[in-house]
Amino acid sequence: MSTPYEATLEWARAHDAADPLRDFRNEFLIPPHEGGDSHYFCGNSLGLQPRGVREAVNAEIDYWGELGVEGHFKGRLPWLNYHEFVRDHLAELIGAQPDEVVAMNTLGVNLHLMMVSFYRPTPDRHAILIEAGAFPTDRYAVESQIRYHGFSPNLSLIELEGDEPNGTISMGAIERALAEHGSRIALVLLPGVQYRTGQAFDLKAITDLAHKQGCQVGFDLAHAVGNLPLQLHDSGADFAIWCSYKYLNSGPGAVGGAFVHARHARATLPRFAGWWGHDKSTRFQMGPEFVPTPGADGWQLSNPPILSLAPLRVSLDLFHRAGMQRLREKSLQVTGYLEWLVQTQLPNVLEVVTPKESERRGAQLSIRVLGGRTQGRALFEYLIEHGIIGDWREPDVIRISPVPLYNRFVDCLAFAQAVRRWKEQTS
Ligand SMILES: *Cc1c(COP(=O)(O)O)cnc(C)c1O
Repeated sequence: MSTPYEATLEWARAHDAADPLRDFRNEFLIPPHEGGDSHYFCGNSLGLQPRGVREAVNAEIDYWGELGVEGHFKGRLPWLNYHEFVRDHLAELIGAQPDEVVAMNTLGVNLHLMMVSFYRPTPDRHAILIEAGAFPTDRYAVESQIRYHGFSPNLSLIELEGDEPNGTISMGAIERALAEHGSRIALVLLPGVQYRTGQAFDLKAITDLAHKQGCQVGFDLAHAVGNLPLQLHDSGADFAIWCSYKYLNSGPGAVGGAFVHARHARATLPRFAGWWGHDKSTRFQMGPEFVPTPGADGWQLSNPPILSLAPLRVSLDLFHRAGMQRLREKSLQVTGYLEWLVQTQLPNVLEVVTPKESERRGAQLSIRVLGGRTQGRALFEYLIEHGIIGDWREPDVIRISPVPLYNRFVDCLAFAQAVRRWKEQTS
């Protein structure tokens, strides 16, 4: 069968014009480059600003000025319940029940809060399983929790090495690790999408295997939320955490999120408590005894950052309108095009590290520069100079993430053409 793709501007433009989601691009501020738009492929690191954000944030600033403390009860969206205004769309996005999700804190903080409840080591079962090469926060958090409980990372931290050629991890390797070490593993903590390789994991299959061994299961969805359709409730995972400034486009340092499975909604799990997690109906009686609100809300510590929740609300509205399923369909096309361009136009220059199977990846392709680190850095800087914004991961990988809300086929083509021009100049 002949490929549906062509490496021409004509083809790319025609397919952008036929894209049913093409208008969502106009909802974003695209960083300019030399009088035009840059080709922004960094939504996996910091998503672009939705145009509606400025107005939404300004509205809250105005309410504060006009209403003072009354803003908690008045205004279009009273601050007292503000985190609830993002709940339904967040739940829809990750395939959860509304009381299983909460927008709060940041990813690292939520990871620690969740581990307080879900990492309960005993002398026989004290290990945590993560992937080798995990994001630093995740590794630091896990190590520090192990030490905090009086155990040693030497014995209690199991790092699963990639067993596939590009360092990705097969389901078989996870299965073998759980069969071998399962009885001493307290917690399995894996990513939804691995930040370095772009590999997506089967959350339900992992959860099933881990639960069979009696382990708790948590997922770091930093690179999965807003990228892949998720069915978190059905996966059976005990908890998940994420940030909102990557694919969720909610701005630098945006408020993160957490998922706690409904089966734990009313359980008296140990936790670090704060007044905002207290039962809503009696919170303002200000009593001395902590009674948690059922569900994920019961893990809140503080009253929420309104100026940080406002962009999230705007962004989630876009996801709701576009629909994660439709976004995924487009994502498969656009990332498929990028992969095809790399394979057919640039075979001696670049190599895709991310798994080929579409069900094992999201929007991002991690692309190795075959010439090595020095060449790779030179190419990366050439791309930035020419308005093609990806990001660099040592020693030789450029991450390029076509985001279906605002990237186009022509962006992918511009990337491939720029790499080709660079190659012609340097050889
Ligand atoms: C982006 C990212 C983080 C960042 O954590 P913050 O607490 O938001 O700074 C952590 N873990 C992973 C896997 C990430 O991709």
